Amino acid sequence: MSQTLQSVRGMNDILPDEAEFWEVFEETVRSWLKSYGYRPIRMPIVEPTPLFKRAIGEVTDIVEKEMYSFEDSLNGEQLTLRPEGTAGCVRAVIQHGLANQIPRRLYYIGQMFRHERPQKGRYRQFHQVGVESIGFAGPDIDAEMILMGARLWDDLGLDGIELQINSLGQPEERAQHRAALIAYFERYQDILDEDAKRRLYTNPLRILDTKNPALQEMCAQAPKLIDYLGAESLAHFEGVQQVLKDAGVPYTVNPRLVRGLDYYNLTVFEWVTDKLGAQGTVCAGGRYDGLVGQLGGKATPACGFAMGVERLIALIKESGGEPAAPAPDVYVVHQGEQASRLAFRVAEGLRDQGIDVLLHCGGGSFKSQMKKADGSGATFAVVIGDDEAATGEAQLKFLREEGAAQLKLKVDDLAEAIIGQLIDSDEEE
Ligand code: ATP
Ligand code: MG
Repeated sequence: MSQTLQSVRGMNDILPDEAEFWEVFEETVRSWLKSYGYRPIRMPIVEPTPLFKRAIGEVTDIVEKEMYSFEDSLNGEQLTLRPEGTAGCVRAVIQHGLANQIPRRLYYIGQMFRHERPQKGRYRQFHQVGVESIGFAGPDIDAEMILMGARLWDDLGLDGIELQINSLGQPEERAQHRAALIAYFERYQDILDEDAKRRLYTNPLRILDTKNPALQEMCAQAPKLIDYLGAESLAHFEGVQQVLKDAGVPYTVNPRLVRGLDYYNLTVFEWVTDKLGAQGTVCAGGRYDGLVGQLGGKATPACGFAMGVERLIALIKESGGEPAAPAPDVYVVHQGEQASRLAFRVAEGLRDQGIDVLLHCGGGSFKSQMKKADGSGATFAVVIGDDEAATGEAQLKFLREEGAAQLKLKVDDLAEAIIGQLIDSDEEE
């Protein structure tokens, strides 16, 4: 016997109960984004590997060890399953000349792939909602993109998600800080771990982002980037904070917030919850003014963020949120050849009137079909036997009211009766 095949470790099936949850979530997210003027864009899941190396940076966790890369066996091209969406989105903007029509507000929802150790809130295939705005230089858009989050948490019925912000300044300011940081870390050679040693001269800022408890104290005392920011960078940071204060959105400045991707400058932020254990960041982003130029486009300021869908869904569940399980309005029960032919016509006719219909398929006794009708959660059963079919009639049965009457109606009158009843029961609620 052949062995049963399983999904790839860290890549999950999303079954109907769960998938309906996702659809409700996505609807909320799409209408929230629309209310801020964001428009959808859909990029391929596979991109040329050099795109991510250039955009994300060679010395990052993602590029060093998390990418699913492979060679196209037909032409030898190096390809990668996208680990994040910003690089591909910016590539698309440049490729299609969208940058000439800036400013642009764009979003996408989809799978991302990272070869990480699977655990709660961390998967190898996961989903992000990515939001990018291209062509805005001022702190106003950063602030709006941060504020948006607060509204979404509200729309999703979530609370206790805390906002952390920081400024990474500009590349030249980072260079000065970097020199100071290297000098500082060099004094601690003996306690640095493998990762930190490897990054000491390539990407020392990333050492600050370490999750190794043994390095926390040393990192807390390290030179702070904010002390190296010039007047302009500080003013930008102030501008962001002013809007947040005006809007009454509480935040903490976290000087150690550096983000795992190299393309960020100035504002960076994370929304974090303590209800999901170690994987508490549900939304993260910042400004990336250098990226469009770095990928071959005309220098264009930009800002964006990404949310982890699995983590947000887990948080909604944790907070007791359940989307209403969608039930059909009508379940059509039928037996006999004439009845079955009429049942198809009835079901389509009801759908024409905007009624959700589950047509029984697969035969079986009236009794077993009625059981399925009950289990479906439908409000009504429409029951058609050959007797009814002969006279063009059907039984309309209320499934949600004890002992409720059963009506015999002409099939052409069914829709009106059903709609009338649905409206009545809506008013009662
Ligand atoms: P982390 O520090 O948790 O690894 P990150 O800095 O790598 O996160 P980003 O690249 O900023 O994450 O991605 C944005 C969001 O996508 C994260 O805040 C998180 O919610 C989600 N995310 C990232 N990696 C994963 C993953 N492997 N599984 C599930 N969600 C993820
Ligand atoms: Mg990560």
